[in-house]
Amino acid sequence: MKKINIAIDGYSACGKSSTAKRVAKRLDYIYIDTGAMYRAVTLYFRLHLIDIDNLEGIKNALPNIQIDFRKVGEGHHTFLNGEDVEEEIRQPYVAALVSEVAAMSNIRKMLVEQQKKMAAQKGVVMEGRDIGSVVIPDAELKFFMTADVDVRTKRRQQELLQDTGRAFPLEELKANLLHRDRIDSTREDSPLTKVADAIELDTTLLTLEDQINIICDRALELIQA
Ligand code: C5P
Repeated sequence: MKKINIAIDGYSACGKSSTAKRVAKRLDYIYIDTGAMYRAVTLYFRLHLIDIDNLEGIKNALPNIQIDFRKVGEGHHTFLNGEDVEEEIRQPYVAALVSEVAAMSNIRKMLVEQQKKMAAQKGVVMEGRDIGSVVIPDAELKFFMTADVDVRTKRRQQELLQDTGRAFPLEELKANLLHRDRIDSTREDSPLTKVADAIELDTTLLTLEDQINIICDRALELIQA
């Protein structure tokens, strides 16, 4: 059967990951969470006490950073230099720094190269901020997800509660989402934007199931055409 690539971009905590994961499962495609890669790089700098102002230290560290995804039970986990960091990269101390790290061109160049290779065989559902614009501009199907910021904040709080068992204060989470949206949308290299051929999906009033159905229906139309 014909395979396509699906690009999903959008603001933080709009439901991109949960939707993309389930779409990939339903279509039997590979799910790639590019945000996890930027988070893993951020974690590496934290673990090695490399300050984000230390441009020389960052440049020297890049060849030592290996990121891959592996199946663990039912999930896909992010591995940093052979270690499962799936839980650690979701922590707010990583989220607090990741957009500054992701704004650096040498880091983007390294990760985008890997992401392009992952998508080369087709059959991927890839989510992030620059997927439709930079990583797979020739993706057959592109979505741009948005949602009301208070709804996004509550969803993120629920996710973190499930993943870490902690209820982080809404105000702190909202401030982080707005901070990341601002940096992600205004950075010079590959800012978050809705490309002309992306379908906008406002998820404020949609359930997860609605989002999955909308994307899968479109995908099946293309696959079966
Ligand atoms: O998707 P997630 O919220 O985990 O992404 C974390 C951060 O990684 C984003 O806020 C953004 O700064 C960066 N990112 C990016 N480009 C991508 C994916 C994520 O700049 N393709």
